Amino acid sequence: MIRLDGVRKTFTAGETQIHALDGVSLEIERGEFVAIMGQSGSGKSTMMNIIGLLDRPDDGAYLLSGQNVAGLSEHARARLRGTAFGFVFQSYSLLPRMSALEQVELPLIYQGVRDRRRRAAEALVRVGLADRIGHRPTQLSGGEQQRVAIARSLVVDPLVVLADEPTGALDTATGHEVMTLLSDLVDQHGMTIILVTHEAEVAEFAQRTVRMRDGQIIEDTGAEHAAHTVNHANTSQAT
Ligand code: ADP
Ligand code: MG
Repeated sequence: MIRLDGVRKTFTAGETQIHALDGVSLEIERGEFVAIMGQSGSGKSTMMNIIGLLDRPDDGAYLLSGQNVAGLSEHARARLRGTAFGFVFQSYSLLPRMSALEQVELPLIYQGVRDRRRRAAEALVRVGLADRIGHRPTQLSGGEQQRVAIARSLVVDPLVVLADEPTGALDTATGHEVMTLLSDLVDQHGMTIILVTHEAEVAEFAQRTVRMRDGQIIEDTGAEHAAHTVNHANTSQAT
């Protein structure tokens, strides 16, 4: 479903060039729960930003559900970003004056979807916040705020949830609760999740670990599976 082929991204800081992604190839199938690990500065967020269409590669190919997204206009990319991806960040990114229900409704307002209130309420029920619908962020614990953010990411029925250090601001026990919720979404609802974390304990919730160093993938526990699915994709295209 997601396929990166030889993706490169270079940033220029003053006189130095930083190869944030230095030829990254990766295939992720529907229903996978993948943890991206690696030290600070190894390129994890850059890769997530490219997958989530927040940034463009300088070189290489990105196919999303078989579509080469490199050629899309900025407008088409923004539309696709809103329907294909749900984003969860370490900082929750909630708006201070809005209730949980209003926060979760927001992506549906941008998309002009009907039945917003009901869908937002359903998403909040799915993350176990049925009794917190009218609460504002300051009235919620850190774990509850992150669950609101997860509900907001799910409400659009995305192809993939992209979670960049979702437990980074939480204590261990609360972090585990949030990871259990994400695992349940994969196991029970067939969600596809790509998670960035630098904590091995958090990565253990995922089925597959991709390790990065200096802009390259140095280990992928799902590499055999990925190779198999590449062949499968080629075969099914031919028929
Ligand atoms: P990680 O998420 O693994 O910590 P990042 O993908 O954020 O790493 O960054 C990879 C490298 O690219 C780092 O050296 C970082 O400083 C650099 N970098 C990331 N974004 C930018 C940017 N917008 N401008 C300049 N350098 C950047
Ligand atoms: Mg990062």
